[in-house]
Amino acid sequence: MEAEIITLAARVKQIKPSPTLAVNAKAKALKAAGADILNFSVGEPDFDTPPHVCEAGKKAIDEGFTRYTAVPGIPELREAISQRLAQDKGWSYTPEQIQVCCGGKHGLYNMAQALFGPGDEVLIPTPYWVSYPPIVLLAGATPVEVPLSEENGFDLSEELLSRYATPKTKAIILNSPSNPTGAVFSAKALEAVAKLALANKWLIISDDIYDTIVYGDGTLPHILDVDKRLAAQTLVLNGVSKSFAMTGWRIGYTAGPKHIIAAMNKIQSQSTSNPTSISQKAALAAVSGPQDFPIMMRDAFVPRLDFIMGALADIPGVTCVRPKGAFYVFPNISAYLGRSFNGKVMANSVDLADYLLDEALLATVPGAAFGADNFIRFSFATAMGTIEEGMRRLAEALGKLS
Ligand SMILES: *Cc1c(COP(=O)(O)O)cnc(C)c1O
Repeated sequence: MEAEIITLAARVKQIKPSPTLAVNAKAKALKAAGADILNFSVGEPDFDTPPHVCEAGKKAIDEGFTRYTAVPGIPELREAISQRLAQDKGWSYTPEQIQVCCGGKHGLYNMAQALFGPGDEVLIPTPYWVSYPPIVLLAGATPVEVPLSEENGFDLSEELLSRYATPKTKAIILNSPSNPTGAVFSAKALEAVAKLALANKWLIISDDIYDTIVYGDGTLPHILDVDKRLAAQTLVLNGVSKSFAMTGWRIGYTAGPKHIIAAMNKIQSQSTSNPTSISQKAALAAVSGPQDFPIMMRDAFVPRLDFIMGALADIPGVTCVRPKGAFYVFPNISAYLGRSFNGKVMANSVDLADYLLDEALLATVPGAAFGADNFIRFSFATAMGTIEEGMRRLAEALGKLS
C-alpha cells in the first residue's frame, strides 16, 4: 500500500462522505456489473430537465456566455428569483438580498462559513438531511439533534425545542417538506419556533428545496408567514435541483438579510467565484418561464406514493407516516432489527440495508444516515414498475428474517 506521509486536517476527520451518494454509487456499480438492482436510494427526480431550460443552456454556450459572472449570480437571475418569491410567496427581497450558488448544499455551506464558529450550537430536527451536521461541523460549530417522533408525525413543539435550546443556540435548520420523512411542519410548530427565535435572536435557516412537491390540499405553512419580523433573522434556501429536475446543473440560492448575503458573497468570492455561467442562464429560464413542470412532476408522484403506502401497510410490523411532501417514504423497520438471516443478525439499519441490497437487490438508504436508526429511506422518484417489484421484493426479504 502507498505510504501516507502527509497528515490530514483535523476538520476532515470529523466527517464522512455523504452516505446517500455512497449508496447510490454502490448501486450503480452493481448495476453496471449486470445485477438486477432496483434503486430506491436516489435523491433526485427521475425526470429530465425540461427542454426550454436545456435550450437556454445551449444558447448560452452558442452565444459565448462562458466567462466569469458577478459573484452572487447574474443580475437578471437574481431579479427573476426576487420576482418569483414576491409572486409565489408574497415576500419582498431585493436582488442584493439574494445569492445564487452552486446548488442548495453550497448555499448551506456558505451560510455556515459566514455565520457559525466554535461555541455556536445549531438545532437540527432529527431525522435530518444527511449534510446538515457535517456542514455545521466544518464551520467549527456544534450540531444539536432535536429528536422528532413518528407518533407526532415528525412535528416540532415548543416543549421539544426548549429541551434542546441553550444560551449557545445560534440557529435552527427547518426543512419542510422534509428529506427523509416527507413531513411538513404544522403552523403551531412554526409558531413555537418563531416565539423562541424572536426571544433569543436565533437565526432560522428554512430549507425550502421541496416546496413545489406538496400533496393533499397543498398546505405548506412557512416560518416567514408566522411573523413578518422574522425576515430579519431568516435565510430562505431554495434552488432548481428538485423543482426543475436540474441536480447536475448545480444552481441554488439563498434569500435573506443584506449583511448576511454580503458575508456569504465574500466567502463565495474567495472559494467558487460565481456559479457556472451556462447553468445560470438555464436556471433563469426555469425561474422566469412557465411553472407547470413542477406541478406535472408532483402529480406524477401521487399514484406512486399511494401505491407505496399501500404496499408498506401490508408488511407486518412496518409502520410509515404518510409523507405530505417531497418524494421519499421513511418506514419504521425496527420490528425487523435483531432478527437474522443465515446466522447474520440485523443489528441496525445499516445491516438491514446491506441485506436488502445483497439478498433482494434493493438499494435503499439506512435511517442511520439521517440520525434515525429504526428507519429506512425509499425514494419513489422512480418508475411505477420498479416500485411494484421493489415492494414485492421488500416484503419477501423481510419475511425471510427470523
Ligand atoms: C437535494 C436537497 C438540497 C439541495 O441539493 P442541491 O443538489 O445541492 O441543490 C437541499 N436540501 C435538501 C434537504 C435536499 O434534499
